[in-house]
Amino acid sequence: MKKVVVIGSGFGGLSIASRLKAKGFEVTLIEKQADLGGRARTFSHNGYKYDAGPTVITAPYLIEELFSIHNEDFKNYVKLLPVKPWYRFLFNSGEYIDYGGKLITTAHEIKSKYGIKKARAYLKLLKHSKRIFDKGFTELSDAPFESISSMIKHLPELMKIRFDRSVYKTVDKYLNNKNLNEALSMHPLLVGGNPYSTTSIYLLIQYLEWKWGVHYSEGGTGKIVDGLESLFIKKNIEIKKNTEAKKIITKNGKVIGIDTSKGIINCDLVVCNSDPTYTYKNLLGFKPKKISNKFNLKHSMSLFVLYFSTKKIYDDVKHHTIVFSRRHYELLNDIFNKKIFVSDPSLYLHRPGATDPSMIQNGHDNFYVLAPVPNNLSNIDWENRGNELANIIINNLQEKIMPGLSNNIVDSFFITPDYFENDLNTYAGSGFGIQPVFTQSAYFRYGNKAKETDGLYFVGASTHPGAGVPGVISTAKVTEKLILRDYGIN
Ligand SMILES: Cc1cc2nc3c(=O)[nH]c(=O)nc-3n(C[C@H](O)[C@H](O)[C@H](O)COP(=O)(O)OP(=O)(O)OC[C@H]3O[C@@H](n4cnc5c(N)ncnc54)[C@H](O)[C@@H]3O)c2cc1C
Repeated sequence: MKKVVVIGSGFGGLSIASRLKAKGFEVTLIEKQADLGGRARTFSHNGYKYDAGPTVITAPYLIEELFSIHNEDFKNYVKLLPVKPWYRFLFNSGEYIDYGGKLITTAHEIKSKYGIKKARAYLKLLKHSKRIFDKGFTELSDAPFESISSMIKHLPELMKIRFDRSVYKTVDKYLNNKNLNEALSMHPLLVGGNPYSTTSIYLLIQYLEWKWGVHYSEGGTGKIVDGLESLFIKKNIEIKKNTEAKKIITKNGKVIGIDTSKGIINCDLVVCNSDPTYTYKNLLGFKPKKISNKFNLKHSMSLFVLYFSTKKIYDDVKHHTIVFSRRHYELLNDIFNKKIFVSDPSLYLHRPGATDPSMIQNGHDNFYVLAPVPNNLSNIDWENRGNELANIIINNLQEKIMPGLSNNIVDSFFITPDYFENDLNTYAGSGFGIQPVFTQSAYFRYGNKAKETDGLYFVGASTHPGAGVPGVISTAKVTEKLILRDYGIN
């Protein structure tokens, strides 16, 4: 039986550990932190628990599979609740749209606020999104890309769906309305991309949400992580927490083990869920062989996230509210390209109690609010500027959506790009790995199988197909295919 070590327990690492165990590998999962989940872990603070990261759960069949491949019923571990509406988009003017839930309701919402032509245009955009989904998700999201030629054969269809256009430009072609453009092109931000430069292939996320709905895991996303941990214990997957990989050991062009903060572990293959840029620089000490990614890659923006609880229950606040700033193009340009401190961020507010009463804890409402900010190539000193941004955000929410907020907060803390860089070992503290631009997609992302040495594989946000929970779970499907092929297993 081949022995595999998985470095990192984000959803990518958890997924590959589950998949390889089901195929008979001996699996050890090591995690630097004291708990599992990576970006999807749970924070506990002064008696409150907070989802640290992902809360929008889409394509739940991908999570269910991680249990069903062991003949286990996902429903015995996790309960998913439908979110309605999926998002409230709140514009600077005070206008808003409630989006998602039922298509007819959404079309009606657009019609009532922007007229019948815009509602029809939205349905046409969705049809276009389905076409992209059929190619980009159904056909390619779990297909390995090992050479440029494996990409070239898809170019004719990609040309037809105009992959060369950005998500923003594509939405504008259909909707041609400032508010609707901003709202309906926001999906790249969920996977680390600027809507103005992300290839329109990522518009597939829009149809993906309609295909399977938007869900919340009862008790928090951490319940999915806990469910997987229980499954792993039952299936004898070895879990080593507080264990940091320091070096991947190779001999004669082959992986033979890893050196960790708790000693050496011998193994036949290693799957890294740790960020690939960090991994090549720190655990391998050489550059990737692929011409396309010798570290000149564009890494995603980062995030500033403020977690807080309030004594007031804000019943009017929906589960997911996106609060748009007055600026859009310029703001994203400041964050992604100029990499400067922004004092007028757009915000995404998460209020789980709107869907799941169990998240009203100690009689208090529970939230996080996140702002996209530049990654740490910015040189912003977050030790000094963190409180400043927290206050800006609280004032903004207080003015636009949560009256009396500052007097109602009973608990709060925040994370900055430094958390992603130092705690999760992510290059430049990027929130989502490398950006989803075309020149960093499919074959041009980090390889799911390394070319430099045998027995070395990758999963997670910077590999194909990319970031987001459905994305990283799919990276493990791709990597599993390559490993089974390489080790001659059906
Ligand atoms: C605030 C936030 C909100 C988000 N919201 C959503 C959402 O609503 N829906 C959605 O689909 N996606 C969302 N995302 C994106 C999604 O969470 C991520 O793309 C995904 O969870 C990343 O998973 P991953 O497998 O790449 O690994 P990560 O979660 O990045 O985990 C990598 C793990 O490797 C560990 N590690 C690193 N180096 C070492 C080492 N040397 N030794 C041992 N362990 C190591 C780290 O500690 C970490 O646990 C969000 C992300 C953030 C940050």
